[in-house]
Amino acid sequence: MSQAVQSAAVQNGIGHDLHRFIDTLYPICRSITGDGLRETLRIIRTHIPLSLNEVPTGTRVFDWTVPNEWNIRDAYVKNSRGERVIDFQTSNLHVVNYSVPVRRRMRLADLKPHLFALPDRPDWIPYRTSYYQESWGFCVAQRQLELLPDEEYEVVIDSTLQPGHLTYGEYFLPGDLPDEIVVSTHCCHPSLCNDNLTGIAIATFLGRFLSAQSHRYSYRFLFIPGTIGAIAWLALNQEKASRIRHGLVLTGLGDSGKLCYKRSRQGNAEIDRAAAHVLQSGFYEHQLMDFSPYGYDERQFCSPGINLAFGRLSRTPHGTFPEYHTSADNLDFVHPEKLSESFDACVRILGLVERNETFLSLNQKCEPQLGKRGLYGTIGGAAGARDRELAMLWVLNFSDGAHSLLDIAERSKMSFDCIRSAAEALRASGLLRECLELTSDMRVASLERTTS
Ligand SMILES: [Zn+2]
Repeated sequence: MSQAVQSAAVQNGIGHDLHRFIDTLYPICRSITGDGLRETLRIIRTHIPLSLNEVPTGTRVFDWTVPNEWNIRDAYVKNSRGERVIDFQTSNLHVVNYSVPVRRRMRLADLKPHLFALPDRPDWIPYRTSYYQESWGFCVAQRQLELLPDEEYEVVIDSTLQPGHLTYGEYFLPGDLPDEIVVSTHCCHPSLCNDNLTGIAIATFLGRFLSAQSHRYSYRFLFIPGTIGAIAWLALNQEKASRIRHGLVLTGLGDSGKLCYKRSRQGNAEIDRAAAHVLQSGFYEHQLMDFSPYGYDERQFCSPGINLAFGRLSRTPHGTFPEYHTSADNLDFVHPEKLSESFDACVRILGLVERNETFLSLNQKCEPQLGKRGLYGTIGGAAGARDRELAMLWVLNFSDGAHSLLDIAERSKMSFDCIRSAAEALRASGLLRECLELTSDMRVASLERTTS
């Protein structure tokens, strides 16, 4: 993947395509199980050849059990005149996600403990769930709640909660290496855009984009319900998990805040350093965060017994913007230009990991004579040529089989792209060769050979 290819997707207005895709998925009532989740995965499948996997209710996955499947057709609260004063058909956020079926008449006082609103944000509907405790409820705007007179209401939640399956989607894209990069996103929230749909859209378009590029790594894209989906996938796919070298959790990528990368539990993994290098390249307003055991599915991928190198890319971290988990996280809250920038950052981070190879200098005793090979001052103006020569000296000195190009970029404080293009020029001149998949034992042996 070259930088030119990366910016082409962004220049072609991918932000608007991403926003249109989010618009298509927005009305669907998703949950951690059920037909809304399946429908979402089937729509993703129109872009990438996703496999849909079904895990039966009751399956033990580590310390958890796959719950009953939830489906909903309709829900409402009708007043004495038969008017729907709360109506699932106008917003799926009106029903507490995973509500058990209800069909009752009751006074306002009995209904009120089942009504949830946000007094500080009187026009917004909150998003609530009750996955692991059987209950029911409605979420309403505070202003709507205040208008309800004390009378008898007809309360209906036409849902089912019974044995079925948990569904997740997986798209595997084989590369030259069996080693995998995993891109994971949760897809269990109903009509919420930034939290949920931006991650789904960018992961889908990344999958399609990478399928048209050559790539060293194999890629696995996971579209999973939050928490239980990640736990189920890890419990049921331990052999696949053993091939994961790098992982990225994507979520919250369309709001107007700056990009935010949260490091893996390992803290200094290659993906962490690649993300930091890209975000610090001067293209992006950004922040870097250390790992904490709170957040999205990085919690599971980075649990101590799994400890994979998974970072998380988002914009404003969840829970720190008022629209989070409310009806205000809508289509207007996510912006095509921010989606485009987030997509670009993903492509650059993955592109850096792809191109972060380790080379071996074939001329380790003193510097090779670059002038006679035409490698001095061949390209660009004076300043560009100086950087290029400096980059070649760094690459030659540290290409001992133990330092990757990112190691060299960090140590020289030069850009990865500059180091990478110096390495390519040196390789073309026969001064460098790739060190493919050296184990640490082989690295020691190679060092001993070249220094003896
Ligand atoms: Zn959420």
